[in-house]
Amino acid sequence: MGLTKRPFAEPYKIKVVEPVKMTTREYRLEKMREAGYNTFLLRSEDVYIDLLTDSGTNAMSDYQWAGMMLGDEAYAGSKNFYYLEENVQKFYGYKFVVPTHQGRGAEHLLSKTLIKQGDYVPGNMYFTTTRLHQELAGGTFVDVIIDEAHDPTVWHPFKGNVDLQKFEDLIKKVGPSKIPYITIGAPVNMAGGQPVSMENIRAVNNLAHSYGIKVVFDATRGVENSYFIQQREPGYQNKSVAEILKEFCSYTDACTMSGKKDLYVNIGGFVACNDPDLFEELRNLVVVYEGLHTYGGLAGRDLEAMARGIEEAVKDENIAFRVKQVEYFGNLLLEAEIPIVVPIGGHAVFLDAKRFYPHIPQNEFPAQRLAADLYIESGVRAMERGIVSAGRNKITGDHNYPKLELVRLTIPRRVYTQSHLDVAAWAVMELYRNREKAKGLRMVFEPKYLRFFQARFEPIE
Ligand SMILES: *Cc1c(COP(=O)(O)O)cnc(C)c1O
Repeated sequence: MGLTKRPFAEPYKIKVVEPVKMTTREYRLEKMREAGYNTFLLRSEDVYIDLLTDSGTNAMSDYQWAGMMLGDEAYAGSKNFYYLEENVQKFYGYKFVVPTHQGRGAEHLLSKTLIKQGDYVPGNMYFTTTRLHQELAGGTFVDVIIDEAHDPTVWHPFKGNVDLQKFEDLIKKVGPSKIPYITIGAPVNMAGGQPVSMENIRAVNNLAHSYGIKVVFDATRGVENSYFIQQREPGYQNKSVAEILKEFCSYTDACTMSGKKDLYVNIGGFVACNDPDLFEELRNLVVVYEGLHTYGGLAGRDLEAMARGIEEAVKDENIAFRVKQVEYFGNLLLEAEIPIVVPIGGHAVFLDAKRFYPHIPQNEFPAQRLAADLYIESGVRAMERGIVSAGRNKITGDHNYPKLELVRLTIPRRVYTQSHLDVAAWAVMELYRNREKAKGLRMVFEPKYLRFFQARFEPIE
C-alpha cells in the first residue's frame, strides 16, 4: 500500500519501552469468564492493547519524569504546589486552586460545597462520577444537552452544546434559587467526545449569570475541546490552543479537573475557582477528605508532574497529534463501514452497539457483550458506555435506558503507535463480519454505586 496522502507522525520519539503479553483465544476466553464478562475485572497483564481508558494511562515525557525527581515532599507548603498554582492561573486563568487526588475528589468537594438537598444541577449530558457526587450531595441532575448529542448518526460540529431553551425551561420550572450551578463538560465524554463551541459557552454564561447561577467547567478534557474550536469555529483558526482554553475558562466560575486526561499524568486533579469565599470552603473541606490544601492527597512529585503536564498539554503540536491519532483510528473503521459515533471525538472512538448487534435487546447488554467479545477475539480491551454505565433510576429502580449504547475504544496519550491502532481496527472488523453469532448477557452481580466497574455477567446461550 503506497502513501495516498501526506502522513502525520508523533511529535516525540520513544525512549523506554514496556513489553506486552501475547495470548491465545482460549486463554482470553478463560480470563473473560473469570472476569464475569466485565473488562474492568481483567488483569491488565492479560491485555494486549489496552483501550479501556485514557485516564491515568498516559506516557509522561522526560521533562515530567525529571520533574518527579524535584518533588518537595513537605507536608505543608511544598514548592511543587506553588508551581502548579502558578500554571493553573497562567493557563486556565482561575485565581484559586485546591489540588485533589483525581477528578472525582474535586467533584466531591465542589458538590458538597455548593449543592443543597433538593437542588437541581443541569449539565450537558452526564459524566458518571460527576452525576453521582451531585446526587450524593442531595441534587438531581438534569440533562440540557442539544438533542443531536443523543443520536450517534448526526453530524454536528459542536454536538456537546447546551440547549439554551432546555436550560431556561428548567430555570423557569424549578426557580433559579434551586440551581446552584450548571456543569459544562467539554468535550462530552458520554456523547462520544463531542465538543462545545465558544459561542455556546458564552451564551450559557450570559443566561446562567442573568439568574445568579454559577457555571462550573469540567475542564478534564478542555484542551481537546480548545483544539476542536480552533479547527471548527469561525474566528479561531489563528488563535493558539492555549489562548482558546483561557478564553473558554473565562466564561466559567470554577472548574473541576482530572489531570489523568489532558495533563499526561498517572494521578492527580484539582478544583479551581475565582470566588474567594468558595475557595475558603473548598480549602476547608479538602483537609477532611483529601489532605492539606497544598497537597490534596498527592505527593509533591505528582504535583510537579501535573504542573509540567499543563505546559505540554496546551502545545498545539501535541494536542493536534492526539486528536489526529484518534481520527486516524476512527476513519479506518468508517472506511470499513463499521457503525461508530460521528463525528469522531477527541479521545476515543465509540462503536454503536445498537447497530453492531441489532439483534441483542438493550436489557441483554449489547455493548457489554461487544466489549467482552473484542477482548476474547483480539486481546484489545475496551469499555461499555451504555445501559450498564447508565445505572438505575433513583425512583423506580428500573434500569435507565440511554439512547446511546456504546463501546468506547479510548486512546491513551503517547502510548500506542499507528500499528497498534491498525491491529485494533482489524479486530473490530473481524467481529463485525461475524456479528450475527453474538448473543446477549445476563447480569449476575450488581454493585450499588457505579455498577459498571464491578458488575458481573454470564452469557445467554
Ligand atoms: C475522567 C473524568 C472525570 C473523573 O475524573 P477521575 O480522575 O477519573 O476521578 C470527570 N469528568 C470527565 C469528563 C472525565 O473524563
